[in-house]
Amino acid sequence: MIATITMPRLLYIGGGAVAETTTALARLSASRPLIVTDQFMASSGILARLTDRLHAAGIAWQVFADTVPDPTTEVVKAGVARLKEGDFDCLIALGGGSPIDTAKAMSVLAANGGEMRDYKVPNEIPKPGLPLIAIPTTAGTGSEVTRFTVITDSERDEKMLIMGLACCPAAAIVDYELTLSMPWRLTADTGIDSLTHAIEAYVSRKASPFTDGVARAAMGLIAKNIRSACREPDNRAAREAMMLGATKAGMAFSNASVCLVHGMSRPIGAFFHVPHGLSNAMLLPEITAFSAPAALDRYADCARAMGLVPEGEGNQSAVARLLDELRALNDELKVPTPKAYGIAEERYMELLPVMASQALASGSPGNNPRVPNADEIVALYKRVYD
Ligand code: NAD
Repeated sequence: MIATITMPRLLYIGGGAVAETTTALARLSASRPLIVTDQFMASSGILARLTDRLHAAGIAWQVFADTVPDPTTEVVKAGVARLKEGDFDCLIALGGGSPIDTAKAMSVLAANGGEMRDYKVPNEIPKPGLPLIAIPTTAGTGSEVTRFTVITDSERDEKMLIMGLACCPAAAIVDYELTLSMPWRLTADTGIDSLTHAIEAYVSRKASPFTDGVARAAMGLIAKNIRSACREPDNRAAREAMMLGATKAGMAFSNASVCLVHGMSRPIGAFFHVPHGLSNAMLLPEITAFSAPAALDRYADCARAMGLVPEGEGNQSAVARLLDELRALNDELKVPTPKAYGIAEERYMELLPVMASQALASGSPGNNPRVPNADEIVALYKRVYD
């Protein structure tokens, strides 16, 4: 099997790496950036850490700070209009997955025209757009190294997956110091998001020896540090490990794809506005229990990579430990069920057929070790509800 690996051309990783943005610009021969970010970054001083550097290097920039969590087609359109107003030669995305995904979508739409839904998987993106430097502030979606962007179609309430080389940033600046301000809930949600990426990349039918290595490394880093990062927000070693884990998980799933958890998670996010990491977390233990019999050895490896299994223990009990740990993690990190989150039962049940068909259409369930049909997906949605 030949694995095709897509990655940014440049990666700067470590505390203070945001200072390297000017070096990255120079190496990409770019000098007129539009910064894509959100209001929190603009008002909290995080944006200033970037713009101070640009200013000192004599680089003129402009800012589009109107991105929203779980970016929509409307926001992308507004961003493209902003992009077309100026003479920009690159984009810099600063923030969590939402500003990064917005910037990717802006680059794609500005270069190719049409509507965002024209590029939804399985459609191809004809032309690459302006190069993007991605600077994540959550740990995280891994979007800084992935060839995906996830945009909600406001008219159809659908979280669309858009995929291709054109969505892969040219450079990623991975600076864990930017995550020190993350509150407990965001740390937990984004941490479980990256753990889900690593597990799904490892069990995916598209996994390769390359993605296996980074996925296992990511699982170890995240499993061993997620509790400390939540409990002790200033624990720099835990924050650094979580950031590195999130980026490695991004490299893994960008090249091995995600599976059933993500396929089912996107419709929950689109219809009920549940943060992405949280909807993954709601699903992860039950979907793992459903899928594990079809790939016991792979899930057992996940438990081992997470440091859960004593030497010499067999696959069956390793998988039992994995399920126990995922449930314990959800308890400790106070992950609610959809019901406890406040999603009305009637509306949830009524939407299940549409949610199942959107999940299947995204293609992600087809990568799962156990490929479900629509009825099985509906049954799984029901099982996790309360
Ligand atoms: P986010 O970008 O939506 O941000 C959530 C909130 O956290 C925002 O209010 C933001 O201002 C705040 N925030 C961000 N960094 C912070 C910090 N350091 N300190 C304090 N607050 C901070 O969150 P996210 O979970 O990183 O991104 C979610 C989005 O990413 C979803 O739309 C999801 O679908 C997408 N996603 C994309 C990929 C991909 O490969 N493209 C992968 C996974 C998820």
